[in-house]
Amino acid sequence: MSNQWHLDSWRDFPAAQQPEYPDLKEVEQVLAELRQQPPLVFAGECRKLKKKLADVAVGKAFLLQGGDCAEQFSQNHAKIIREKLRIILQMAVVLTYGSLKPVVKVGRIAGQYAKPRSKPMERVNGVEMASYKGDSINSVEADFDARVPDPQRMLRAYHQSASTLNLLRAFTHGGYADLNMVNAWNLQFVKNSPLGQHYEDLATEIHRTLKFIEACGIDSRRFPQLNQVDLYTSHEGLVLGFEAALTRCDSLTQNWYNVGAHMVWIGDRTRQLDGAHVEYFRGINNPIGMKVGPSCSADELMKLIDALNPNNEAGRLVLITRFGASKIERMLPKLIRKVKENGRKVVWTCDPMHGNTFNADTGHKTRRFSDILQELTLFFKLHRAEGTVPGGVHFELTGDNVTECLGGVEDLKEEHLANAYETACDPRLNAAQSLEMAFKIAEMLRE
Ligand code: PEP
Ligand code: MN
Repeated sequence: MSNQWHLDSWRDFPAAQQPEYPDLKEVEQVLAELRQQPPLVFAGECRKLKKKLADVAVGKAFLLQGGDCAEQFSQNHAKIIREKLRIILQMAVVLTYGSLKPVVKVGRIAGQYAKPRSKPMERVNGVEMASYKGDSINSVEADFDARVPDPQRMLRAYHQSASTLNLLRAFTHGGYADLNMVNAWNLQFVKNSPLGQHYEDLATEIHRTLKFIEACGIDSRRFPQLNQVDLYTSHEGLVLGFEAALTRCDSLTQNWYNVGAHMVWIGDRTRQLDGAHVEYFRGINNPIGMKVGPSCSADELMKLIDALNPNNEAGRLVLITRFGASKIERMLPKLIRKVKENGRKVVWTCDPMHGNTFNADTGHKTRRFSDILQELTLFFKLHRAEGTVPGGVHFELTGDNVTECLGGVEDLKEEHLANAYETACDPRLNAAQSLEMAFKIAEMLRE
């Protein structure tokens, strides 16, 4: 793309997956109002995250990105937000101990409200209606009218992102993230679960390390390194009108930043080289992600990297590969080799969720814990074989005790899926499955 970038240059390119609003004048009014709203994040925070991701790229830190497939307006309660944060913190402690590296924590949170869909329409109870595209676009309710895109939802998404982020900032800097407390939750978890001796040993080891530090006179309550964390926010930058309305010129650097999240990513369905998403993303200075699925060839990937990170800046671009356990061995090595041969600096992470989705006999969309673990295991193995850095992991998860993915220590079966199947879109790991996954990854990182 050789044209000059500006805030609206994406409008000259075809944009996939955009909502079809019935009233374009109302859309313009909403976007004008959004342009007046204060930023949710500060550009300086995005630069800080980019620095940390530069460490991830060279193996000096590890990235944990996770949260809902789709956040819901109706789920904006303190308890739900707190439990989501809590599971991310618990996983991060285990991963820090396993890797002996700082873990960069990025939530799919405070803005993950827009979904690309494989089919624009679906038939529910005999009625043909638009597919649900996330709460910032239409309602999950199976009703023809409720599925018509409503631009007012963008304003609600902005305000709910602001209140979610406000609470996260309070928790992460107000004492809730104290390392001793987080590890006490982990200990309690392994004691109460059939995970067994194996993980109890690891949790006890971490506990002893913390006790040792305390015995040396270091009280976690007095050290921000031990009682505060930085949790960064991220979402898929899908609806470009919305994203552009929250894109501002930073007064310190005169560079453009998306101030609706620290990091935004391009989905696997919207990463067309000559498309509007790539055009929009190339002009913002946030760290950005790009999903890379089975349809991406090595040549295409190189062109996308050149468009999105022309200065080969470390920490700028996170490649989130999502092939599926049965395809990763065939697909990933050729991409790794091409990127390595050409000396491109990227963060390689694995999303082991989206390539492993299938419909259970009960009709629920689900994923197997064992497939997720298998894709992750291969991700680490393949990068090690190529001499590149497996930089991080990307999960759809929740802190609640849902029954959406199969397997794990509780051995969830298809007949259990209906018990607490609450996701608005894709199946998430529940709290126990998430923490178990963290223990498994910690073992791989220790090898
Ligand atoms: C997602 O992350 O929810 C998603 C839709 O992923 P992908 O773009 O990889 O399909
Ligand atoms: Mn998803």
